[in-house]
Amino acid sequence: MLQAALSQIKETSTLLERDYLDKKRFKKAIEAILTPQKIIKGKISIIGGGKKKTFQAFRIQHNDARGPFKGGIRFHQDVCEDEVRALATLMSLKCAVADIPYGGAKGGVVVDPTKLTKDELKNLSIAYAKLVAPFIGPWRDVPAPDVNTDGQIMSFMLETYEKKIGNQSPATFTGKPIELGGSLGRTEATGQGGVYVLDAYLKRNSKLATIAIQGFGNVGYYFAKLASEMGFKIVAVSDSSSGIYNPKGLDIKALVEYKDTGGALKDCPLKSGSKYITNAELLELPVTILVPAALENAITKSNMKNIKARTIFEMANGPTTSEADAYLYKKGIDVIPDILSNSGGVTVSYFEWAQNLNGYYWTKEKVNDELKKTITKAFTDIDKIKKEKKISYRRAANYISLKRIIDAMMLRGRV
Ligand code: NAD
Repeated sequence: MLQAALSQIKETSTLLERDYLDKKRFKKAIEAILTPQKIIKGKISIIGGGKKKTFQAFRIQHNDARGPFKGGIRFHQDVCEDEVRALATLMSLKCAVADIPYGGAKGGVVVDPTKLTKDELKNLSIAYAKLVAPFIGPWRDVPAPDVNTDGQIMSFMLETYEKKIGNQSPATFTGKPIELGGSLGRTEATGQGGVYVLDAYLKRNSKLATIAIQGFGNVGYYFAKLASEMGFKIVAVSDSSSGIYNPKGLDIKALVEYKDTGGALKDCPLKSGSKYITNAELLELPVTILVPAALENAITKSNMKNIKARTIFEMANGPTTSEADAYLYKKGIDVIPDILSNSGGVTVSYFEWAQNLNGYYWTKEKVNDELKKTITKAFTDIDKIKKEKKISYRRAANYISLKRIIDAMMLRGRV
């Protein structure tokens, strides 16, 4: 993942270099962007079952030329420094694509949270917040939830941080529960933002699309629900247990209601015309839009030749490998990149931060209106560059984001 992120930056820099007269300064800026500004790492310990348990923890702050660092905290057994570094780098690009005033960061703890008790998870969150407290703050670095962390964990971290600094500081964390200053519309924001981008991409012609969605978690669930409410025809969805397909269109309202009961799709009663399919089959369906919304590396060398969709709409982070991406581009298949299509989450996090700083809270309508404006503009900017330069959507997104970061670095005199 890190290699892919770094090579995307290097590749885009060859295109971008022409825009800068001072090649030396430009090269210095690219070199700086290839390296994070700060790596905070350390061991954090908790007492569990009478024993001391120690975990490796990271916070990587990539680049803050455009504003405070921003990025989630992940609790997962596979977390490693390179992964956190890659995700921090992608956050800088994502915030610049959405044109929100943040740099990129990411945090992680190497832990399998399913093996911790509730108390241990709370104590781990407190220990992590103590480790990073000297380096975060509303104008310095604003963490948020990521894989296996949530509003409750942000609440424990906020309490720890505020005790340390001696005053309230809700804008230091986003993704908080509403009771502690979270924003309305944040839960569904990533899916909602994706639907706005899809609507702009299809020029408000939802009738043209048949959609297959891999993943029915936070992102896939809301994407399916909101797209279907806007009149898009969704023919397949899946979770890790199974997929369900109906070429004439699924009853998404019923599937959403079923998912709300906590059931797995493999046990979902089938309606007439529907059948179970595997996740691999879902990716190869004859649809116009394929939406990977589950995991990284879903579209790879091994299945890229079987993809029949005309557009890949990346809602997961990193679902298409570099090799598959190059192949799909040659075949004329559009790939709408993750840093654009799933930027709705961080955009509403930005709104949460802005509301916290003002102490004044928005209605859900205002949140969604502002999200639509911000993300539709991001799409329009990228679409324009894509057409002007005859490049892929991904390259256009990288071009715009890198340019914004480099310009900010130059204005500050960092290079
Ligand atoms: P989640 O854990 O809520 O849901 C993941 C979904 O994927 C579940 O339905 C799960 O059953 C399914 N899944 C897991 N393994 C699978 C497999 N092998 N095949 C098919 N489906 C599988 O996670 P999420 O928050 O919806 O995140 C999904 C993706 O979107 C991740 O890549 C995440 O990094 C990215 N993302 C999430 C947000 C956000 O706000 N939640 C924002 C930006 C990007």
